[in-house]
Amino acid sequence: MKQKKNIGQTTAFISAIGNAVVSILKIVGGLISGSIGLLSDGIHSLADVLSSIIVWVGLKISAKPPDVEHPYGHYKAENIASLFVALFIAAAGFETLWDSINKIMVPEEIILNMWIFSIPLISAFLTLLLAQYKKIVGKKIHSPSLIAEGEHSLIDTLASISVFSGLIFYSFGFPLADPIIGMVISVLIVWRSYEIGRDAILSLMDSLLEPEVLDKIREIVKSVDGVIDVEDVKARHAGGRILVDLTILVPPEVEVRRAYVVHDEIINRLKKEIPQIAMV
Ligand SMILES: [Zn+2]
Repeated sequence: MKQKKNIGQTTAFISAIGNAVVSILKIVGGLISGSIGLLSDGIHSLADVLSSIIVWVGLKISAKPPDVEHPYGHYKAENIASLFVALFIAAAGFETLWDSINKIMVPEEIILNMWIFSIPLISAFLTLLLAQYKKIVGKKIHSPSLIAEGEHSLIDTLASISVFSGLIFYSFGFPLADPIIGMVISVLIVWRSYEIGRDAILSLMDSLLEPEVLDKIREIVKSVDGVIDVEDVKARHAGGRILVDLTILVPPEVEVRRAYVVHDEIINRLKKEIPQIAMV
């Protein structure tokens, strides 16, 4: 199960790198050309990178034991950092929204060349690859969050294709196409910041899991056939649900396919006994 977690983390990391590359290309291209569609698409990708980093840091932090200064663990720090990121993304989103509206009222010239045209196409192609990659890995390791991430990358692909179409329309004499698309993408940026902020606030309102619940989880998992011992249980509240992270010991002769059966059995029993459990 440790290996499974690593595959998920590696996939998330590759995805963040890919998004960072297209984000830089689009922001630079948007600033050089004056295309607000391209610029806002770049900021949208930047928001995606930041939210991936939050998830990644969250995984690292939840592995850290509580210390003297943080007797209840490091969750609160993560959530407060997320709130700042959400505010930053929201500010950027409202900024591009404002710019887009201004450019709809007073259209400005966009400097276009092959390079500028190729940026949204490269971005669409890369995000499409990332979407497929995350969905395939997500299904393979049964990770709903990775599958959802894959579906989000498809929205990114559509956004980049609309930016490209906006530039085409612009060059055929429809100057409003670019800022209108910029406006739509700005709404997506603000929505992303709302999602990040909402999750952080919900987590801040929740407390850490009580030790009795942890013991109960441990007992349930131990009762599953094929489990020798429970090495580690980590669990936390996340917006009314409980997320569980388990490290278990199975006999060495157990083959991979059987290990998945054990894994599914653990999830079934946990969900039956503690209905708030959302993910294991
Ligand atoms: Zn996105």
